[in-house]
Amino acid sequence: MDEFQLIDRFFKPLSRPADASVRLGIGDDGAVLVPPSGCDLVMATDTVLSGVHFPTDCSPRAIGHRALAVNLSDLAAMAADPLWYTLALSLPSASARWLRGFTQGLSTLSAEAGIALVGGDTVRGPLAVTVTVVGCVPRGQAVTRTGGRPGDWVCVTGALGRAAAGLAAWRRGQRRGATLVPFLYPHPALEWIPLLRDFAHSAIDISDGLIQDLGHLLENRPLGAEIRLDRLGCDPEDLEGLERALWGGDDYVLCFTVGSRQWPALQRRIRSRNLECRAIGRIVPGPGIRCQGVMARRIHPIRMQGYDHFRNKVPRARHVRPSPR
Ligand code: ADP
Ligand code: MG
Repeated sequence: MDEFQLIDRFFKPLSRPADASVRLGIGDDGAVLVPPSGCDLVMATDTVLSGVHFPTDCSPRAIGHRALAVNLSDLAAMAADPLWYTLALSLPSASARWLRGFTQGLSTLSAEAGIALVGGDTVRGPLAVTVTVVGCVPRGQAVTRTGGRPGDWVCVTGALGRAAAGLAAWRRGQRRGATLVPFLYPHPALEWIPLLRDFAHSAIDISDGLIQDLGHLLENRPLGAEIRLDRLGCDPEDLEGLERALWGGDDYVLCFTVGSRQWPALQRRIRSRNLECRAIGRIVPGPGIRCQGVMARRIHPIRMQGYDHFRNKVPRARHVRPSPR
C-alpha cells in the first residue's frame, strides 16, 4: 500500500461528501471551505504522542479517538460548533490493521460531533498524531479563559479524577473494564456548547488537572478561587480520589464560571437537558486557590502551597510511563 492508496482507502471515507460547506476536500493541495455567514471561526490544534499522551501499547482505536477528542474539547471550551478538521499523521509503518482501528476511533467520534475531515498529511516516522480543528461561533460569542468575575460560581461539567484513576489501573496492568474508559475514551463536552454560549463568563477544558487549569482562568488577573471539597463528589474517606480530582489530568471535563444571578436559569437548562454539573466554588478577589471543607487539612499541603508553581510550570501528572509487563 503506497501513501496515496492509504489516503484513499482510510482517510477519504472520513470526509462528508455531501457537505455543502466543503467545496473541495481531500485530494487537492488545499481544502476549499465555505464558512457559515455571521460567524467567527475558532481554530485549535493538539498533538498526541505515543508514550507521552497515550501508552505505547494503547489500541489504535483509542489513539484515533483521543487525537480528535482533545481537539473537540478545545472547541467545546470556546463554545464553538465543530465544522472541519485536518489530520497530520506520522506512522512507523502502513499497517492496514492499525489504520482500520485508528480510523474507526476517528469516525465514531467525528460522526457524533458532525465534523468532516478535509485534509492532512501522512509521513513515515515515530507514531504522532496532530489534529487541527475549525469550529464556528456567532460573531463575538466565543467564550474565553479571561471573563471570570468575583462572585461567579466555578462549575465543572462532570466527575473529576476518573481519567487519572483509569491511568493508574492501566499502570497496574489492567487492560479491560469500565475503570479504563474515561482514560482511554475521554468524552468532549460538546453538549455544553449552547449553554456556555448563553451563560459562561469564562471556560477552559480540564486537561492538566482542576487546580492547574482553574489557575489559567485566574492567570494575570487579581482573582482567586475558593473550592468546596465536599462538592467535588468524592468519597470523604478516599484521599487518593480527592487528590486525583484536584490534580489528575486527561478528564476533558469543562470548568466554567457563571454569574450568581444567571445561575437559576442555567440550572433549569441543565435539568431540562439532563446534563451533569457541579458548582464547586466561587471566584474571589485576590490571588490564590483555597480549598475548604473537612478534607482540606488532609490534602497535600506542599502541593497547595505550590500554587504559584502551577501558574508557571508544573511537572505534568499525565506523563505515561511504559506499563510493566
Ligand atoms: P501535498 O503533496 O500537496 O502536500 P499530499 O500528497 O501530502 O499533498 O496529500 C494529498 C491529499 O491527501 C491532500 O489533499 C491532503 O490534504 C490529503 N491527505 C494526506 N494525508 C492525509 C490524512 N492523514 N488525512 C486526511 N487527508 C490527508
Ligand atoms: Mg501540494
